[in-house]
Amino acid sequence: MVALLHSDLLESQATKIDRIVATGAPSSAWPKEVQQDYNSHVRERLYREGKFLLLLGLAIGLASAFIDYWVSPALALDGFILRTIFILPITLLGLLSIKLQRVKVMTWCLAVSQMAFAGVLIHLASHLPATTAAQYYLATALLLGVSNVIIPYSMRGMIGYNVSYIVAVIAIVLGHGIAQFASQVDFLTTLILVAAATMPVAYRSELLRQRNFLLATRHRLASEELVEANRLLRELSERDSLTGMHNRRYFERAFKEGGRTVKPGDTGLMALMMIDLDQFKAFNDRHGHQAGDHCLRTVGGTLRKVFAENTGLVARYGGEEFIGAVRVKSVRHAHNLAENLREAILDLPGRTQDAPLVTTSVGVAVVPVTIDLTLEDIIEMADAALYSAKRAGRNRVELIEAGHQEALSA
Ligand code: GH3
Ligand code: MG
Ligand code: MG
Repeated sequence: MVALLHSDLLESQATKIDRIVATGAPSSAWPKEVQQDYNSHVRERLYREGKFLLLLGLAIGLASAFIDYWVSPALALDGFILRTIFILPITLLGLLSIKLQRVKVMTWCLAVSQMAFAGVLIHLASHLPATTAAQYYLATALLLGVSNVIIPYSMRGMIGYNVSYIVAVIAIVLGHGIAQFASQVDFLTTLILVAAATMPVAYRSELLRQRNFLLATRHRLASEELVEANRLLRELSERDSLTGMHNRRYFERAFKEGGRTVKPGDTGLMALMMIDLDQFKAFNDRHGHQAGDHCLRTVGGTLRKVFAENTGLVARYGGEEFIGAVRVKSVRHAHNLAENLREAILDLPGRTQDAPLVTTSVGVAVVPVTIDLTLEDIIEMADAALYSAKRAGRNRVELIEAGHQEALSA
């Protein structure tokens, strides 16, 4: 039992997250469930940003046809064909993978479509005069920088993407001849610098995003824990510790809340019962307080069972007194229920041949469910009936009906 109270188990999730935020632990050291939450959060972002970038790439691809035509009408058709062959299918596959929730395929498509875009730009640039070509080359470096900042790649993914992008660009430049490669050393250096400058920025913003996520999760968990703690507190404050049944506080709240569900025109009746064990002080004196406690628990169990079977409400009102409320069809029905209760307690295990374990007196108030009386008024009626039952010799049921002055011996 003591082992179960190990501090790890008692530490709330919100406190764990506080510790992670304070120590700046990497995401691999986060609790499993927080990691999973974060991964699905990142996946959502990947889909969102991926869709945006793929559509933007498509739009830029189309717009580029006009730019190509404006820069060099002879190259426009080449550009259009190359983009249609290389970029369009990858973009469409990327968009489809978002629909099919295939995150890996989507990130691959995103990376490859950008490399293809850069490839087409470099190919076209190799046929353009140096000043115009420089702008095309610069566009490929810009593309890498922008996607580094926008796409939420993992650190490993980002390094892989940057290396592949740079290698692909070098290969394409080399593909146009060694002279081309030699003339583009400046551009290739710029490309590597762009990668080197934007990756730390992206890494830093990823760390900030992780921290934001942790703080938001902490806030959510703390609210959930508070709600749960309040629920537990209320549950505890409305339970009787001896019998485990609900207590008077719960009964009063549940009765008042239940009352609100009564519909206008409801013609049903309700029976409120005060159930008091007879001469329980003498029981304690005879059998001891522990036995008295045990008896109260047994009686409580019986009452809970009977009221649950009749979809009623029951609670320990205090001491050796219980309170119950149940919908009834008639005064006779209420009386029968109370009689059943009395007999069930009379027959509890522990009775000897000549004496029951314990007997009980029940005071019942029967009122229309729509009656304009407070709970206290109805309890007063049931108490009066209980008093009559005690006076009439105990171990009996007395019933009082709304509108009748005196308790009716049923
Ligand atoms: P009556 O038939 O008139 O109701 O007599 P009574 O003795 O039952 O009533 P009284 O109010 O004089 O005494 C109630 C007794 O119930 C006194 C008290 O010791 C006992 N009692 C109340 N709460 C507990 C409890 O939690 N455990 C035990 N063992 N006894 C309790
Ligand atoms: Mg009593
Ligand atoms: Mg009493």
